[in-house]
Formats: sequence, C-alpha cells, structure tokens
Amino acid sequence: MQAMVFHEARGNLIPESRPNPSPADWELLIKVEACGVCRTDLHIQDDELPGLNYPIIPGHQAVGKVVEAGRHSSVSEGSRVGITWLGWTCGECKYCRTERENLCDRARFHGYQIDGGFADYMLVDSRYCFELDQTQPAAEIAPLLCAGLIGFRSLSMAGDARRVGIYGFGSAAHIVTQVAVRQSREIYAFTRPGDTATQEFARELGAAWAGGSDASPPEQLDAALIFAADGQLVPKALKDLNKGGRVVCGGIHMTDIPSFPYADLWGERRIQSVANLTRQDGKEFMSLAGEMNIRPQIKTYALEAANQALDDLRHGRINGTAVLTM
Ligand SMILES: [Zn+2]
Ligand SMILES: [Zn+2]
Repeated sequence: MQAMVFHEARGNLIPESRPNPSPADWELLIKVEACGVCRTDLHIQDDELPGLNYPIIPGHQAVGKVVEAGRHSSVSEGSRVGITWLGWTCGECKYCRTERENLCDRARFHGYQIDGGFADYMLVDSRYCFELDQTQPAAEIAPLLCAGLIGFRSLSMAGDARRVGIYGFGSAAHIVTQVAVRQSREIYAFTRPGDTATQEFARELGAAWAGGSDASPPEQLDAALIFAADGQLVPKALKDLNKGGRVVCGGIHMTDIPSFPYADLWGERRIQSVANLTRQDGKEFMSLAGEMNIRPQIKTYALEAANQALDDLRHGRINGTAVLTM
C-alpha cells in the first residue's frame, strides 16, 4: 500500500510503501476511494494534540470498499463504508455506559492514534464504520464524515436557536449552513476580516449576513458556533449573543481564551465545547444529509499531493473542503 505519513512534529507528509495489513477478527481492510482533509490534520502536523506518537498516517473522513473482512465482522466484502474520527471506545467506562462514548476515557481516533485514510488501503474496526450508499461519488461523501458530523453535533448543541452565528467559514461551516438553512434558521457568517470571497461563498449557500470576525452582526444572535481555532473569538462571540444564548466551540484545539468581564457572560449565556462524536450521531447525520441532499463543495487532490492540500487549507485557499482521491 501507498501512504502519506507524518514522521515528526511540524514535518511534512512523507510518501511510503508498506505491505497491505491483514484484518484481525473484527477488522476490515478497505481500499480507500477518498479521504477528506480536516483542520485537525493540521493540529496533528503541528503537534498540538496531547499524546501524539509519530509516525502516524492522518485522515479521519474516509470512504472505501471492503476488500477483506475479519471472521467476526458483520460487514461483507464489496460493501462501501465510511470511517470517522471515532475509531474505538472501551464500552465499559461511565461515559460509554451512558451513551456518551464520545467522552470515553480510553477512546482512540483515526488518523491520531490509529493509522488513517491518507493511504490507498487502511484497516478499520467494523464496529466503528458506517455502511454507505454505493452511488454517490466518494469524494462528496467524505467531508460529511467529520466536517459534516462535527458541524451537525455543534448545531445540535445550539438547541432551537434561530439566529446562529458561525465563526470561521471553512469545511464544517459550509456544510452546517446548508443544514441550518433547510431548518429555517438564519445564518450569520464571520470570516477573516477582508475575506470577501468567503463571505460571498457564505451568502451563496444561504447565509442571511456575512462579514469579518471584527464586525458586529446586524441582529443579536441566539447561538454562536466557533469553528476557527482562535480563542479570541470566544469573548467576541459572547458579545454578539442574546441573553440565554450559547457559544459552542466546535474545534478540537483552540488558542487560549482571553479574560473578559463577567457582565458578558451574565444573562445565562453559556460557553461549551464539542468533543468528538458518537456512532449514533453518525447514523443520524448521514441519514439527514441524504434526506436534505447536502452537497459539500470539494477541491480534489491526488494522494501524493496531500502536502499541497494541507498547505492550501492552512492558508485559507479552499472554499469548502479539500479531499484526497485514490
Ligand atoms: Zn476532522
Ligand atoms: Zn469508554
């Protein structure tokens, strides 16, 4: 198999040939068709997540065909499956036993502790993948598996908020906007100041308003979803909220949040993070995305061009999602 591998912190991906692995009892060997590129892959390149051990093959939104199935697997050869960030949970801890496996103390994640989908073959645990429709292009499904899912979980945390601000308009934002608009919510999109191209993109997707993150929205918001990794956005978003509103931080990593006056939190405003996802989230969202005909905007790259894809993402050169196709 061919893979793109991080060997050290702050290094580039290095192409590597390895023998194809064999699936153990519960595992599947899949031939990867497409794998989305996520901001988390940049955090892994930059060594910003705890307990990271190199070498690691990143990639946690992959679509592929099963070519070999372990003897306990219930997924058959030839099936198309999707893999997400969640790769394994213990099933025993207090979180796993209360339908919060996203918080499992011993959870392991694809492309972080388990080799991921920046490769033409990968091993997955059959209990942590989703069987997918065979007809839709793989590259259009892949971004739903993290950007879509985490965006959806973040939006769910906003309850029935009608006016929703989105701070950082990248992969997750452009998918969650489509969902929110179909739910008759109003989206207020905040981009890097001066990034008029992304603001235009947000309006094309149905945002009621788009502007720089330094601007105030024309209406106070009921909820704010932050997908950018900039902690300074948290006190800014709080100021944009109505009483009772919630700031939801959707990213896995964020720079420090500056101090702010208690008055800005007063009025039962809340700040919360979104950590990972459950398999149930995956089932619900993939079904909803099908019903709503959610279509990510993608820019495709060959596997060997993965470093270019990461660089384009880092510098904001992509509207929508970068996807590697194999
Ligand atoms: Zn991701
Ligand atoms: Zn657990």
